[in-house]
Amino acid sequence: MTGLVKGAPAPLSDRVLRVTQDNPGMFTGPGTNTWVIGSGSGPVFVLDPGEEDDRHFDALAAAVGGRRVEAVLISHLHRDHWPLAPRVARHYGAVILTFSEQPPFTAGRLVDGRRLSVADTTMLALHTPGHASDHFCFLLEEERAVFTADLVMGWSTSIIAPPDGNLNQYMASLERLVELGRDGGIDVLHPGHGESIKPPLERIEEIRRHRRQRTDQALEAIVDGVATIPEMVRRIYSDVDSRLHGPAAFSLRAHLDALVEEGAVRETEPGRYEPGELQRRQGARILRPSR
Ligand SMILES: [Zn+2]
Repeated sequence: MTGLVKGAPAPLSDRVLRVTQDNPGMFTGPGTNTWVIGSGSGPVFVLDPGEEDDRHFDALAAAVGGRRVEAVLISHLHRDHWPLAPRVARHYGAVILTFSEQPPFTAGRLVDGRRLSVADTTMLALHTPGHASDHFCFLLEEERAVFTADLVMGWSTSIIAPPDGNLNQYMASLERLVELGRDGGIDVLHPGHGESIKPPLERIEEIRRHRRQRTDQALEAIVDGVATIPEMVRRIYSDVDSRLHGPAAFSLRAHLDALVEEGAVRETEPGRYEPGELQRRQGARILRPSR
């Protein structure tokens, strides 16, 4: 894979150009990846224009060249992915397509399963909630490439911050990618941050395993009588830099919500947990519906 070079468009295939924004950080890794998708001198899609910034706009314009922009797509409305979108759309006379109807996004709402095509380029929109309720991935059908935004990244696991983030939905969205990827249906993943991922399925499986393990650890802690989130964070994330314990608490909350949804634990009062009916009945340590 081509290394991440900020400001210069990186061609990853006949149809895919990546422009990485210079906005590195804890949640953005090396920076937000903006994608220009389309072949030859034909029209293109722009996906995730990133944050408002003149240099990034210029880099993106260089990547688009003289081509027509068919639509500006936004994977989800976290601020590292979209604020430049209105300017790009205005400049190229393009529509913005996003799932959210939050102003200024009123037209062209994305729906799951919608196919967007220009010339020889087809993007299938996939509603993949979990990281955010409005999160979309796009399958570039001709290249069996999925633009995963913040669903799957190589360098980090996704933040799942309730209430908008939901772990059970997140796991279902990963499962959907696994289904798509079966029998060679996906060749490569192009994430919203960091390098592209090839082959794709191992990384997805690794993320699923990691999440299941964290959920099991949360349940174990509760069965052991650890009742509150701060205590659980100290126990479960002891291997993680304490500066990350804030985000870890959000993430843990997502695991607890998932366990509550499954009936494996109960929230007795806000922020206090005890084993659910299943654990008490069986007097067992760890028993949750296997998946
Ligand atoms: Zn995000």
